Amino acid sequence: MDFQFTEEQLMIRDTARDFAEEQIKPREMEIDETGEYPRDLIMKMAELGFLGMIIPEEYGGSGLDMVTMCLAAEEITKASAAVSLTMGLHNSLVTLPIIDYGTEEQKKKYLPKLASGEMLGCFALTEPNAGSDAGNQETTAVEDGDYYVLNGRKQFITNGPVADLAVVFAATDRSRGPRGLSVFLVEANTPGFQVGTIEKKMGILGSPTSELVFEDMRVPKENLLGKKNRAFRVAVTTIDGARAGVAAQCVGVAQRAMEEAIAYSKERKQFGQHISGFQLIQGHIADMAVMVESARLLTFKAAWLRDQGKPCGTASAIAKLYASEICTKVAHKAVQIHGGYGYIRDYVVERLYRDARIMELYEGTSEIQRVSIALDMLKH
Ligand SMILES: Cc1cc2nc3c(=O)[nH]c(=O)nc-3n(C[C@H](O)[C@H](O)[C@H](O)COP(=O)(O)OP(=O)(O)OC[C@H]3O[C@@H](n4cnc5c(N)ncnc54)[C@H](O)[C@@H]3O)c2cc1C
Repeated sequence: MDFQFTEEQLMIRDTARDFAEEQIKPREMEIDETGEYPRDLIMKMAELGFLGMIIPEEYGGSGLDMVTMCLAAEEITKASAAVSLTMGLHNSLVTLPIIDYGTEEQKKKYLPKLASGEMLGCFALTEPNAGSDAGNQETTAVEDGDYYVLNGRKQFITNGPVADLAVVFAATDRSRGPRGLSVFLVEANTPGFQVGTIEKKMGILGSPTSELVFEDMRVPKENLLGKKNRAFRVAVTTIDGARAGVAAQCVGVAQRAMEEAIAYSKERKQFGQHISGFQLIQGHIADMAVMVESARLLTFKAAWLRDQGKPCGTASAIAKLYASEICTKVAHKAVQIHGGYGYIRDYVVERLYRDARIMELYEGTSEIQRVSIALDMLKH
């Protein structure tokens, strides 16, 4: 077993860390306060290669692996979970399925633009009646000559209002349920593509989330991604890979919360001494350290399995479940160590507490991770 990262992985991690420290952190409060999408930061990240991390070099990307992407995701998330989500979703839910399932033409057409930031992506699976039950798609895609005509409504779509390319799921045969779904690459300037309500959220402010509405939207047949009626497999394998990235975001939020709590405990004095001297505070810090390190190890294991081409579904679900749950626990403890100040917006932990809460919900709730882990355990 090798716990060493390669020189290249460490270099990418350090580049991400420097960018987060120098460019994102000075604006982290402003991004949360205004909730505005920081397009300029995302474009700078594109220049550094962070929007094409796993895209092969022949298509303009950096050709890196999932472990490296997780290293970068943790660093970026330490400064802003919102910025990290924009990057992570683009990489793992948009570029990944095109790499895995795209035709040569689709790869040549879209991957270089996604790597350079000329196009930003979103992933449109969730609908009002298809959340955890993602197979219950009501958006339909009907063949008409050289096109599919899509009608329907997606909700809670990250990057929805700012995306140039959407990975859209729709039913091509509703009678077959999850086995009658197909997935399409849809350019946002396609007539009939509309951005609906932009959601007001608890946290990850600066990461735009919206409805997408499709009305008689004609999508060329060559934009079908993978085979007709086989989209459920695309969704499952893509999300299996992406969950390690979400786990890395969780580790980033938790690590930052722990760092803030430790620093604060060494400054704050009560009863004539630094609160870091109290054993009950030390207990919180020890618990945080154990949780963060355990989550990090599970995250890298899942990413490593994916990089080796080995089955990673259960490992990713375990990593995402554990990392998301400790993320909220560690953020909770960080607020506790700050006392009343932790409830005040001037303190970073207040934001981390709100940002942490999404992690147990998106890309499969904790309940859905448990269902999938238990099914795998019971199979043996
Ligand atoms: C900020 C944000 C960003 C998002 N980004 C995207 C995105 O980019 N693309 C996208 O497609 N989606 C996105 N989502 C959607 C997200 O993935 C869904 O919200 C999530 O999958 C849960 O679906 P739901 O909200 O409909 O909850 P529901 O499925 O209605 O679940 C409600 C509750 O019931 C539980 N439950 C449901 N089924 C079961 C079961 N079988 N067993 C036990 N418990 C169950 C759930 O765990 C949950 O506790 C985003 C959501 C948010 C809030």
